Amino acid sequence: MSIEDSMGRPLRDLRISITDRCNFRCTYCMPREKFGAEHAFLAKQEILSYEEMTTVVESLLPLGLKKVRITGGEPLLRKDLSVFVAMLRGLDSELDIALTTNGVLLERHASTLFEAGLNRVTVSIDAVNVEMFQSITDSKNTPKEVFTGIEKAQQCGLGVKVNCVVKSGVNEQEIIPLVQACSQRKIAVRFIEFMDVGTTNNWNLESVVTGEEMRQQIMNHFGNLKKSPAQHPSDVARMWSLEDGTEIGFIESVSNPFCGNCTRARLSAHGSIYTCLFSESGVDIRSILRFGATSVEVAKLIQEIWTKRKDRYSEIRGEADTERKPVEMSFIGG
Ligand code: SAM
Ligand code: SF4
Ligand code: SF4
Repeated sequence: MSIEDSMGRPLRDLRISITDRCNFRCTYCMPREKFGAEHAFLAKQEILSYEEMTTVVESLLPLGLKKVRITGGEPLLRKDLSVFVAMLRGLDSELDIALTTNGVLLERHASTLFEAGLNRVTVSIDAVNVEMFQSITDSKNTPKEVFTGIEKAQQCGLGVKVNCVVKSGVNEQEIIPLVQACSQRKIAVRFIEFMDVGTTNNWNLESVVTGEEMRQQIMNHFGNLKKSPAQHPSDVARMWSLEDGTEIGFIESVSNPFCGNCTRARLSAHGSIYTCLFSESGVDIRSILRFGATSVEVAKLIQEIWTKRKDRYSEIRGEADTERKPVEMSFIGG
C-alpha cells in the first residue's frame, strides 16, 4: 500500500534527526553566536529513544516507506547508533538505510555501522583547503580526518557520496579541488545551493551560487558536462558527468526546485513530524508514543498528516507576504 498527499506524492522517505547537537558550528547552519554556550539544546528525556523511533519506522513500512536517512545535528555524536541501525535492519532487510554525517567520527564507527546493516553514508565537506574548512565549520578539525573516514567507509563496503554547500564569496574556489579529490576516490560529489532554511544563517539570494554557475565553472576547468538520466524521480540531486565518467550532482533547491517529486517526511529529535524542510511547525507524535501507541495507531496519525500535505515551499519561495520562521536545519535534519 502507499499513501499520497494532496498533490499525489507518496511517502517513500523518512529523515530522522537523532540529535540536535553537533561538534561543528558551520557558519551557514549553526553559527556560534546563535548556538553558543547559552543555547538550550534538547534534554535527554525530550529526545526520542531508539525504540520510539523504530516504532515510527515500523508504522510507515506498510504505508510504502522505502528509505530512512539518519541525520541531525551530528548523528555520530549519539551513543550506540549501530544499535539503532540494527533495530531498523531487523524490521526490513530491503529498507535502504543511509546516514548523513560531517565525517569526523566516521573512521571510528564505519565498520560497526556497516555490520549493523547501514547501506550508505553521505559525508558533508565544504572545503579541501584546511583554513577554509576550519573557518566554515568553526572547528579545529581537518578535511584529512574526513577523508580518512570516507576511505574507511569505502573499505568497509558502505556506499559513499559527498555533499558540499556552496556559498557565494566563501567557497566557490573549493569546487574544482573537491571534484578532483572525489574523482580520485571514485566518489560522486553533489553541490548544494545555499538554502534559506531556519532563521539564523543570514540567508539572502546574493549568497546563492546556482547549479548553472557551478556547472559553468566545472566545464571551464574540466570540459564538457553531460546530463545523466534521473535514476528515480524523487532523487534530489540532478546528475551530470564529465567525459571521463566522473559523476557530479547538483541540488538546486533555489534555482530549480523539485517539490513536485518530494516524497520526504522528517522526524525531529523531539518527536514531531515535519512534511517540509521549510515547515514552521511539526505535529507532535512523541506524546502518543509515550502513551503507548502501537505502530498501527502511529501509522493512522501520520497518514492523516500526510494526506493533508500541500507543501511546495521552494516552488513558491518569494510569494510569501509575511515573514516566515522555518525550523532550523540542525533540528529537523538536512
Ligand atoms: N551534521 C551532518 C552533516 O553536516 O552532514 C548532518 C546534518 S546537516 C544539517 C545535513 C546537511 O545539510 C549537510 O550536508 C549540510 O551541509 C546541509 N545544510 C545545512 N544548512 C544548509 C543550508 N542553509 N543550505 C544548504 N544545505 C545546508
Ligand atoms: Fe553540524 Fe552538519 Fe550543521 Fe555543520 S551542517 S553545523 S556539521 S549539523
Ligand atoms: Fe520537499 Fe519542501 Fe523541499 Fe519542496 S521545499 S522539495 S516540499 S522539502
